Amino acid sequence: MGARWSATVRAGIDLVVPRECGGCGAASVAWCARCAEALAQPPRAVRPAVTVGVPCFALGSYAGPHRAAVVAAKERGRRDLAVPLGRALADAISQLRDAGDLDPAELNPLVLVPAPSRRRAARRRGGDPVVRLCTAASAASAPEVVSVARVLEVDGGVRDSVGLSAAQRAENLAGRIGVRARAPRGPVVLVDDVLTTGTTAAESVAALRRAGVGVDAVVVIGAVR
Ligand SMILES: [Zn+2]
Repeated sequence: MGARWSATVRAGIDLVVPRECGGCGAASVAWCARCAEALAQPPRAVRPAVTVGVPCFALGSYAGPHRAAVVAAKERGRRDLAVPLGRALADAISQLRDAGDLDPAELNPLVLVPAPSRRRAARRRGGDPVVRLCTAASAASAPEVVSVARVLEVDGGVRDSVGLSAAQRAENLAGRIGVRARAPRGPVVLVDDVLTTGTTAAESVAALRRAGVGVDAVVVIGAVR
């Protein structure tokens, strides 16, 4: 973090146009054409270690621009990256429809459900980046109506998953994701930024199912492989 940026943050100015690409660090542009192209590759099916119970797709591996953009959005205050990431997510969803992996748009309005994050962690990061990603994807889908349903929440006793093994992640989250409101009807896509072991996705899908909401697919920006 450079001195100029720190000074800007101290001054409380929120809407700063970033001077480097959030995917590769290229100068003078917030999101470069090469990173946009990398994110525009067709989504691919992924099979996490934990059985999620519905098809899972990633825009790419959790590496390169996918990883850099997720980390910058989550940890470095790059809220602006929700726009290119949301656009890529919206495009991926329409490609999944074209491929027959999701119902076509004319059948029912699509509902995006952000995977839950621990509330304290989201506050510390200045808002939940996955919610912002879903909202941006909804905006990028216009004129098609895509709604965002923030219906999942994580029990306050859950630890941050960083550094936990797959078994520890599963134990940490088991039965601790709840549904606080019913999702609107329509094809439901669970959205997360990263798919690691699949624990969060599996617990989220199970919690929604217990509440009577079927999930059609899980779509993430990057899958750890
Ligand atoms: Zn770039």
